[in-house]
Amino acid sequence: MSFSGEVKEELLKQYASSEHCIYAELAAIVMFGDRRRTKYGNKDFLPGNGEVEVLLSTENDFVRQKAFTLCKKNINIKVDKDEGILAFSTGFAREHLMPDPDGTLKRQCCKRAFLRGAYLCIGSMSDPGKSYHLEFDCIREERARLLQGLIAEFDIPAKIALRKKYYVVYMKEGSAICDMLNIMGAHVSLMGFENQRIVKEVRNSVNRKVNCETANITKTVNAAAAQVRDIMLIQEKYGLDELPENLREIARLRLEYQEATLQELGDLLTPPVGKSGVNHRLRKLSEIAERARK
Ligand SMILES: [Zn+2]
Repeated sequence: MSFSGEVKEELLKQYASSEHCIYAELAAIVMFGDRRRTKYGNKDFLPGNGEVEVLLSTENDFVRQKAFTLCKKNINIKVDKDEGILAFSTGFAREHLMPDPDGTLKRQCCKRAFLRGAYLCIGSMSDPGKSYHLEFDCIREERARLLQGLIAEFDIPAKIALRKKYYVVYMKEGSAICDMLNIMGAHVSLMGFENQRIVKEVRNSVNRKVNCETANITKTVNAAAAQVRDIMLIQEKYGLDELPENLREIARLRLEYQEATLQELGDLLTPPVGKSGVNHRLRKLSEIAERARK
C-alpha cells in the first residue's frame, strides 16, 4: 500500500469521542465527499423535502463506510447505505454541517477533525522515501481557501496552485507534513514519516561529506602532481642544486613526499614553515618551470 493509503487507513480508524468533533468530520465529508455537489457547484446543500441529501462518491468506499459509522452515532441522520446517500434535516445541516468558524469549526479539536475528514476525501501525499508533498484537491477556490486558513491556524504554511480543474492546497516541507499528520491524528504514520526523514537526512549529510572530502582530496592530489611535474622539469633543465636553498629544500621534500599536504611539508622543514610559506615557495618553483617551458 502507498504511504498515502496507509495514512488514510489510519485516519479511518480514528473516531472522535465528542459529538462536536463527529459533526466537524462529517461536515468535511459532506463538503468534500459529495459527488453531486461537483455538478451543482455553487449550492451549499441540495434542498429536498425539508431534507438535505448527500450522495457520497462510490469511488471512495472506505470514506462512505466511515461516514455511515459516524452517522450511526446520531439519530438525526438517515442513511441509505446501498445508494450511498446521507439525509439530514435542513435544520441539522445548517446547525452542524456548515463550515462556520463560530460554530462547527470553533474548537481546535473540531478543526483537526474537519481536516481529517477532508484528507480522507480529497487528500494525498507522496512517499516520504521519494519526496515531501501533501495535498488536498479542491474543486472550488473558496474551499481551498477555507482549508488553507484552517491549516494556517496550526502555524503550517500551505500554498494553493491551480492544476487542471483543481485548486490544490499543498505543502512541501518535511516539518509541515509532520505537523499536518500530527493534527489529523495519524500518529503511527507520523512516526514512519519521521523515520524515513531521518534516514534520508543522514544519508544526504554523509553523501555531502564524502563528496566534499573527495573534492578536496582530488584538488590536493592534482595540485601535488602539477608541483612534481614542475620540479622534475627544473631538475632536468637546470638541476636542483642551482636553486636558492629555501626552494631547493621544498623541491626535494615535494619529490620525496608526493602525497603530503602543504602543512605536512612545512612541518618537515627546519625550522618549520607554515602552509602559506610552503605555498609561496611552491608557486615560485612553478614560475621557474613556466619560464623554462617558454
Ligand atoms: Zn471538537
